[in-house]
Amino acid sequence: MAGAATGRVVFIGAGPGAADLITVRGAQRLAQADVVLFDALTDPALRDFAPQARWIDVGKRGGRHATDQAAIGALLVRQAREQRIVVRLKGGDPSVFGRLEEELQALAAAGIACEVVPGVTAALAAAADTLRPLSRRGKGRSVGLSTAMTAQGTLQGGCHADTEVFYMAGRRLGALGRALLAAGWALDTPVCVVSRAGWPDRLASDHGLADLGQAALLHAGRPTVVTVGAGARAVAHAAQAGALHHAPAGVGSAAP
Ligand code: SAH
Repeated sequence: MAGAATGRVVFIGAGPGAADLITVRGAQRLAQADVVLFDALTDPALRDFAPQARWIDVGKRGGRHATDQAAIGALLVRQAREQRIVVRLKGGDPSVFGRLEEELQALAAAGIACEVVPGVTAALAAAADTLRPLSRRGKGRSVGLSTAMTAQGTLQGGCHADTEVFYMAGRRLGALGRALLAAGWALDTPVCVVSRAGWPDRLASDHGLADLGQAALLHAGRPTVVTVGAGARAVAHAAQAGALHHAPAGVGSAAP
């Protein structure tokens, strides 16, 4: 069948961590896959959903080069011409900071059919882990998902929604706190940092914008999201759901 564009590509959001956070549809599509292209952030236990498939690691942590991205696009096209069902497995949701646009473009240019199966993005897993709803009646009417990093590799804050969740702040949490203050957030804005959301060893901590830098050491080397504003506030009397919870700034928290 080589040469004819007979296959199709299914983008699947794997969710943020534990394999059971994938959707039923995602698991069903995986079970039909001939080949799976996956990223570094996805849980190895997901392989059990597709033992029949060939698994190809195309992931890289941190900034991915345009050339690497082009190579992934080319590999997807090649696989789709040789296989029936090609799965492109991505951490969280494919539509959120997942370079989905570039990969869809490469496939569209080659005339290959695509489908996207959504997944649980890190911001939602962090909200679930900490029992902190992102929207709040009256006070939290808008929710924003932002990357802390610009395409040029500089750090950027923002103050657009009542609750903002920042991805990819990495180790630069102190700088993010300063950028957020400069962007207009009040000094007493609640900030909740969650790393490895959705995993058994998830970790959450409360901060203020001025001491956000303290979170860097606590969450070092772990994928981390930073929730700022209305949705970062603990719900009164809610216990943490068994998650380790640290409050280095002495802001209200339950002991582990
Ligand atoms: N598509 C993914 C995001 C990919 S960008 C999603 O929807 O979640 C990678 C960034 O996502 C990381 O730098 C980190 O900010 C965040 N992230 C991914 N997995 C995470 C997790 N389990 N816990 C906390 N943050 C996570």
